[in-house]
Amino acid sequence: MNDISSANIHITGIVQGVGFRPFVYGLAIRLGLKGWVKNTSAGVEIQVDGTAEIILSFIRSLKSELPSLARIDSIEFDFEAPREFSSFEIINSESLVGAFQPISPDVSICPDCLRELLDPHDRRYRYPFINCTNCGPRFTIITDIPYDRSNTTMAPFVMCPDCAAEYTNPLNRRFHAQPVACPVCGPQAWLEAADGHRIAERNDAILSAQELLANGKIIAIKGLGGFHLACDALNIEAVSELRRRKLRVDKPFALMMPDLKAVDEQCDMNELERALLESRQRPIVLLQRRPGSPIVAEVAPNQMTIGVMLPYTPFHYLLFTRESGVGLHSFDIRPLVMTSGNLSDEPIATDNDEARLKLASLADAFLFHDRDIQTRCDDSVTRIPFFKENGRTVSKEEKIKTSIYFLRRSRGYAPDPLQLPFEVPELLATGPELKNTFCVTRKRYAFISHHIGDMENYETMQSFEEGVKHFERLFRINPGAIVCDFHPDYLSSRYAFRRSQQDNIPLIRVQHHHAHIAACMADNDLPDHHLVIGLAFDGTGYGEDGAIWGGEFLVADYAAYQRSFHLDYFPLPGGDAAIKRPARIALALLWQLGIDWDDQLAPVKDLCFEERQALRIQLERGLNTPRTSSMGRLFDAAAALAGLRQRVNYEAQAAIEFEAVLDPLESGAYLFIVRENLVDVREAFRGLLEDVAFGVSIPRISARFHNGLVVLSRQVCASLRSTTGINEVALSGGVWQNMALLVRTVQGLRKDGFNVLIHHQIPANDGGLSLGQAMVGANRYGS
Ligand SMILES: [Zn+2]
Ligand SMILES: [Zn+2]
Repeated sequence: MNDISSANIHITGIVQGVGFRPFVYGLAIRLGLKGWVKNTSAGVEIQVDGTAEIILSFIRSLKSELPSLARIDSIEFDFEAPREFSSFEIINSESLVGAFQPISPDVSICPDCLRELLDPHDRRYRYPFINCTNCGPRFTIITDIPYDRSNTTMAPFVMCPDCAAEYTNPLNRRFHAQPVACPVCGPQAWLEAADGHRIAERNDAILSAQELLANGKIIAIKGLGGFHLACDALNIEAVSELRRRKLRVDKPFALMMPDLKAVDEQCDMNELERALLESRQRPIVLLQRRPGSPIVAEVAPNQMTIGVMLPYTPFHYLLFTRESGVGLHSFDIRPLVMTSGNLSDEPIATDNDEARLKLASLADAFLFHDRDIQTRCDDSVTRIPFFKENGRTVSKEEKIKTSIYFLRRSRGYAPDPLQLPFEVPELLATGPELKNTFCVTRKRYAFISHHIGDMENYETMQSFEEGVKHFERLFRINPGAIVCDFHPDYLSSRYAFRRSQQDNIPLIRVQHHHAHIAACMADNDLPDHHLVIGLAFDGTGYGEDGAIWGGEFLVADYAAYQRSFHLDYFPLPGGDAAIKRPARIALALLWQLGIDWDDQLAPVKDLCFEERQALRIQLERGLNTPRTSSMGRLFDAAAALAGLRQRVNYEAQAAIEFEAVLDPLESGAYLFIVRENLVDVREAFRGLLEDVAFGVSIPRISARFHNGLVVLSRQVCASLRSTTGINEVALSGGVWQNMALLVRTVQGLRKDGFNVLIHHQIPANDGGLSLGQAMVGANRYGS
């Protein structure tokens, strides 16, 4: 047992750019082991001489004392003859052909760096690019693996002797911190007027920016994954002006607040929401706005919630602090609107020249810096649905993991891979049209991209193609097949056709709602050949019969699905264009149900006589009126008929506002009837119209509509359980962003004894679709 041998240890997981090698070094020194550690493009490799007993204890400690940002997915080791090393060293990285490994997402500034940032005696005092192995940019600056400075956008900055000394000292917090920099050698910030002249440099730039913001100006600020447009969130003129310039009528803006204390003044929060806000990913968290909060209503019109995030880069912290001696707790800077720096539908700007060109009409000034952004990455958006506690005590971090609900998964999370329940071939799944993400798979990993956006213009398509290339290169993926949506006209599908022809590999087309349910299954780590009841409720998805689906009750596994029940079809006059006009959807639904267009109904009043005539002719002749079973459109119709909203200016606005007004004390429910495999909504809408005629309030109508759908879902699930014996229900699709519907349905189904699966790692909306496509694709590949 005391004989010296040597162990070769190979580790995979998130082990680069997270202080892993210094950790290994410290551990080896502590245990008196000699040898080396190095990064490879497949992970980390260690060779140590020592007794078997000490080596085994070393391996145990690697797992148990892991640095907080690191994650080990596997450790393999072999014992060999001793190599007779004389010391322990960190040696040069090695690039192995075809090998791959996960890459860390960007990490918010750590407490040590924050302390130094605000310490007037520190050499990095108020230096906006301070970072260490525990924090800083990662994914957004990496150009290739292995993760070394030369493979990042920090490559052009040559380290000064002080930084180099920290970088090479294994005992220093900045040992091999690839983006290490200081005011002498690193990137710098400056403030530039819209006409191109420099207003101020370095720290003065930040102070001048604060002054402009205080005076109601709009500033484009270069961040981690792109530009933000910022303005004072308490200044109604500034916020309205930003809306006007951005051509954004009602869609909510996100806010950045200096600290939790400031958030407390504006929002109600529970412990989990606080923890999520403070987590190192620093997502936007949707919170209940406090009545009487001074945040102007124009930030998020007609909503009960606002999206809030805390500062996540040193740059942000400086924006919220005055110079010299002022500690973190004496901010006099107000909450800022921080919205993506783009014109409504285009991708967020990342490059300085691109920003000068595209944001010139939006911003009064630019706060630039000269560190390039390799990968565009928008802020992530999350919330915590409130379920009754099940009494299990777990750590806060574990609790967040099982409670978080994504509306957008991007900065701070991408490109962290999801671990899959089984090994899959190398595939590329190109995702949906709206809220696009794509996904590449390899072994038991699914790398889901950052948020790409709505693929409706050339700029977004270009961003998508660059993203795909970058991921395939970064993770050394050579797809054996391309997977795409059934919709032939999606730009992502067209790209898939092209790629499959160019590369001469198979194309696998996956139905939209099947992909949603498969995504939810993989999100919950379900094994292969496992059937679930899937409630795929969303706005738009191409059906195999050419209709627009979206109110679907499926029985599915990864391989196939059966469409067991669905909302009965109604016409959608003008197809996708109808989405902007809930009033027209409402009238089309009434027409289908054989209910008269009463003059008193809000949607009837919204259309002039001529438009109603034209609509009736269109419906009777079936001109450009695809049939739909969309749950999203059913919400539009209900919200319009209730008198809430007849026209929308952003996706799902009517449904979101309908949920926001819901009266939580109302327990009535409209009656949805199931006939054969169809859900008949006639009785439900008759009930709704009766309530409207009797002057029942919109909040109560909203509650009855939501409650009716909960009853319907429970009924259909019970009926499917009795015929199939399946006791698991997966909820996926954009409609499940509706918290009232989600929480009530989950609680109802649990009461009925179902095991309910909801999303926790990826969004329920189309932002999670690419994972489901990949899972179905993997199942069909080669068969
Ligand atoms: Zn740090
Ligand atoms: Zn330096």
